[in-house]
Amino acid sequence: MSVDSLNKIREYCRQYGFIFPGSEIYDGFANTWDFGPVGVELKNNIKKAWWKRFVQEDMNTYGVDAGILMNPRVWEASGHVDSFSDPKMDCKKCKQRFRADNMIEEHSAGKVAAEGMTNEEMEGYIRDNHIVCPNCGGFDWSEIKQFKLMFETSRGTVEGAKDTVYLRPETCQGEYVNFANVQRTARAKVPFAIAQIGKSFRNEITPGNFLFRTIEFEQMELQKFCHEKDGMTFFDDYKKRAMDFVADLGLDREKLRYHDHDKLAHYAKAACDIQYKFPIGWEELNGIHHRGTWDLSRHSEFSGKKLEYQDPETNEKYTPNVIEYSIGADRLTLAILCEAYNEEKVLEDDTREVMHFNPVIAPYKVAVLPLAKKYHSEKAIEVYHKLSKCFMTTYDESGSIGKRYRRSDAIGTPWCITVDNETINNGTVTVRDRDTMEQITLKIDEVVDYVQKRIDF
Ligand code: ATP
Repeated sequence: MSVDSLNKIREYCRQYGFIFPGSEIYDGFANTWDFGPVGVELKNNIKKAWWKRFVQEDMNTYGVDAGILMNPRVWEASGHVDSFSDPKMDCKKCKQRFRADNMIEEHSAGKVAAEGMTNEEMEGYIRDNHIVCPNCGGFDWSEIKQFKLMFETSRGTVEGAKDTVYLRPETCQGEYVNFANVQRTARAKVPFAIAQIGKSFRNEITPGNFLFRTIEFEQMELQKFCHEKDGMTFFDDYKKRAMDFVADLGLDREKLRYHDHDKLAHYAKAACDIQYKFPIGWEELNGIHHRGTWDLSRHSEFSGKKLEYQDPETNEKYTPNVIEYSIGADRLTLAILCEAYNEEKVLEDDTREVMHFNPVIAPYKVAVLPLAKKYHSEKAIEVYHKLSKCFMTTYDESGSIGKRYRRSDAIGTPWCITVDNETINNGTVTVRDRDTMEQITLKIDEVVDYVQKRIDF
C-alpha cells in the first residue's frame, strides 16, 4: 500500500527521525520543519545527486554560493519590489485567508487561468460563480488585495538609520549578478551555466501541505546563458534532463508530466513545469523557463554595468538569453518520500513499512547488526568503523534481528550486514537486501565494493 495522504507521511517522518515540526517544544511554528538525522542525509544526498548531474558532469556549468541578503536594488531590477505579490482575499466570516487566483483555478478545474486577471476581474468571477469559502462555506469576501511575498528586515548602519533589506525569495538573482565574474574567472564561453543551491524565503499566503509549500525552503537552480538562436534548443534539452533526473532518482514516470504554460510573462519565450502526482494531486515539482534577455538587461540597466558577451570568433557582442531550471529541494524530498513509502505484507500475519529509496539517495547505505550483542558486538563495531569510512552506516544491537531489519527497512537502508560467528571465524558477513529480503554471504572486504557499485549515479 502506497502513501495516500500527506498527514500520514508527515507522521511517519516524525516517528522515524526524517523531519520534525519546527520549534516543536514551543508547540511548533506553523509551516516550518526541521530535518532530523535521517532526513538531513536524504536531502543532502538529493542535493549531491543534482549537483553531480548538472554541475560536476557538465563541462560548461559553474557553481556559486551567493548571499541570501543582497543589495535591495537587485530586487528592484528583478521586478520583485513592485510585483512579487499574490492576490489575497479574506473570508469575513471565519477570518481565513485565501489566494484568489488559486480558488478560481480550483473552481474551474484549471480551465480559467487567473494569472492574467486583474483584481477586479477576479472579484467579478468569484461573485458571478458564487465561489464560497472552502473553510466555512460562507460567501462574505473582503476585497482582493495584493500581498507582498518578500520578507523584509532592516539593516542599521548608523544608529537610528533604517534600510530595508530582503530575504531572497529565489536564488537565481545571485547567479545573474555574478554573470560577468564567473564568465571572466572561469574563462567561460557562451553557452555556459551558473548553478547554485541555497535557501529562499517567501511569505506565502497559504503555506501548508507539509514540505510542499513552506516559507523557508531550498532551491536548486541553474541559469544557462546562451545566444538567442540556441534558446529553444536548450529549453527543450533542460526539459528532458530535468525529467530524466527525477525519474532516475526514483519517481515513477507515470506520476510525472509536463505542463506547458499558455500564459507567459511579457519577457518570457516559453515556460514549462514538471508536475508530480502528490497525494494532494498533480502539482508543480520544478520549472523550466526561457527568460530571453530580461534578467541581464535589467541588471545592466539598474547597476549601470553592461552584462554582455563578445563572441571571440565572430566578434558579435550581445546580451545572452537565459534558460532557467529551478527545483525545490524540499518539494523534491517530499515527492521522493511519498514515492518510496510502502506498507507490505511479509508473511501471512506480518507486514512491514519500508522506504524503497534509490540506494544513491538512501540516508544510510548499510546497517551493521551483531547477531548476539554479547558475542558479536566487538567485531560488529570493528566492521562499522571500516564501512563508515566509505559511506553513512548505522549500528544497531538492540532487540531481535527481525525487529532490527524492520527498523532499517523503515528508514530505507538498502543493506543490513549481520555479524555472527562466521564473521569471527571466517571473516564473512550476511548481507540482506532491503527490497528482496534475500541474503547473501560476502567477505568483509568485499562489502565496500558491493555497495559502492550499487550507489553509482
Ligand atoms: P508555485 O506555483 O508552487 O508557488 P512557483 O511557480 O512560484 O511555485 P518558482 O518560483 O518557479 O515556483 O520556484 C521554483 C521551484 O521552487 C518550484 O518549482 C518549487 O519546487 C520550489 N518552491 C517554490 N515555492 C516554494 C515554497 N513556498 N515551498 C517549497 N518549495 C517551493
